[in-house]
Amino acid sequence: MTERTIPELGSARRLVLKIGSALVADDRTGSIREEWLSSLGQDIARLRSRDIDVAIVSSGAIAVGRRDLGLSGCELALDQKQAAAARGQIRLAHAWQEALEPHGVAIAQILLTLADTEERRRHLNARATMETLFGLGVVPVINENDTVATEEIRYGDNDRLAARVAQMVSADTLVLLSDVDGLYTADPRTDPDATLVPVVREVTAEIENMAGAALPGYSSGGMITKLEAARIAISGGCAMAIADGKPANALSRLSQGARCTWFLPAMAPLAARKRWIAATIAIAGTLIVDDGAARALGAGKSLLPAGITGVDGDFERGDAVSVRTARGALLGRGLSAYSSADARRIMGRKSREIESILGYRGRDEMIHRDDLVLDAQTTESRDS
Ligand code: GLU
Repeated sequence: MTERTIPELGSARRLVLKIGSALVADDRTGSIREEWLSSLGQDIARLRSRDIDVAIVSSGAIAVGRRDLGLSGCELALDQKQAAAARGQIRLAHAWQEALEPHGVAIAQILLTLADTEERRRHLNARATMETLFGLGVVPVINENDTVATEEIRYGDNDRLAARVAQMVSADTLVLLSDVDGLYTADPRTDPDATLVPVVREVTAEIENMAGAALPGYSSGGMITKLEAARIAISGGCAMAIADGKPANALSRLSQGARCTWFLPAMAPLAARKRWIAATIAIAGTLIVDDGAARALGAGKSLLPAGITGVDGDFERGDAVSVRTARGALLGRGLSAYSSADARRIMGRKSREIESILGYRGRDEMIHRDDLVLDAQTTESRDS
């Protein structure tokens, strides 16, 4: 496998950008840093003009909302954080719209919880929504759905949420814009010998030891959550940078080689997704396909309802199923875009008939090729 080299932002295919609270909101006053956001809007417009898909994971709802609610300057209880987020999110979304739309970048808001990223069906729905937005040239602006998340199931920090989003949409690049410019060998505020680590290929115990405790202030993430994000990102085949976001046009500066730390994955996002599917232990059912479909799969195509002759088992949309020939030979496994009940109704039918049969228009494919691992690949990734 060829080792990934430091990515050029301009040649990313799909970029997730995480913006910390301290960048969005002024530390002292909690007001939104509009000029800075607008400069980022310029940078994003430049990437969009090169047809790079961009998603933003923006913190700042609590930082912005707490001041409005008179909750500044004290440690907040969970319900107060949730109230602050509910108030702040509306302003945050508005600020992003004001910052990006003048640069010709349309945005859409997505609020996610931990369960949405971890549970297969919700994961697939969120992924499909984002795919559709990307296809329409819209930039999703994402935050944690702080109102419904309880302490136990909160991400609490958007570093890990951003990494999950990057993994969910098979992004190749994740940039955490922060108030630090990278990972240092020791805490640079207290140790004059601390040096920046420019490239990390694996988050080892030694790397973890370099991260101190979370910094106090608005943001809940410190270097520790950033390293957890890095671990998620690189396991999803996504390169991740920690870079200083404070100056205006922080993304352009990063493209021009500003200091930062890059975490580089060993494989590409699609290969990592397929490995994740191949490693799924719970196979909930079987789709039996005809010879034409078997040939199409072998040629790298998706599995369409038309090629399915039988459905075994009881499964939901998003569950992993095996794909077999009528003689029982295993062809591969994948994530079904339809439940077993719906699959039985549309098997053997043309994709354009799906809507009239089911009453809604789902995906054209029963298993999209990105969600399908052929048997040779299954064996290969189990062995590796
Ligand atoms: N979801 C929180 C907010 O928007 C931010 C969490 C974090 O600090 O990363 O205020």
